[in-house]
Amino acid sequence: MIKYDLSRQRVKTSLLFVFLLVFPFYLSYQLYYLDKIFFFCPVEYKQDTVIIRHDSYGSGDFLSNRGGSRKHNGIDLQAKFGAAVYAVRAGKVTRAQFHRGMGNFIEISHPSGGYVTIYGHLSKIEVRAGQLVRQGQKIGAVGKTGNANHRGVIPHLHFEIRKNGMPLDPMKFIE
Ligand SMILES: [Zn+2]
Repeated sequence: MIKYDLSRQRVKTSLLFVFLLVFPFYLSYQLYYLDKIFFFCPVEYKQDTVIIRHDSYGSGDFLSNRGGSRKHNGIDLQAKFGAAVYAVRAGKVTRAQFHRGMGNFIEISHPSGGYVTIYGHLSKIEVRAGQLVRQGQKIGAVGKTGNANHRGVIPHLHFEIRKNGMPLDPMKFIE
């Protein structure tokens, strides 16, 4: 009887020990992937003023015309070629590949709210599909790949936010 109680006590002590050992790691992991703000701007701007690309090849506004019935499902954030591109929220990279129109692009699925974000025309992709990213993590660089690969097109990040599959105006989130 006494022996039984002792082993029970030992199990309790070791469980507590394991908890105390694992919990700080678990907590720091959770904090690492915690969003500090609602949406991080995917490109850095001085004075936080977003610049939308406008050139003779098109307007970078949300839902601007793209020929026929096609609409622009995102915004074009004008930036220097090679400028850093950041994940707007923590999430999992679901695609990091080349597409004829979008060029090198990254798609991230975010764990809450049904949000998916897309980053296109990149010159560099620095993540791979399946990878977890944190908010504000550098994922690539601004470029001119895909249909932005034309001398007259100003370097920009094509950026989309979709909620449950529906494209939303990113300006409502990042400004
Ligand atoms: Zn675009």
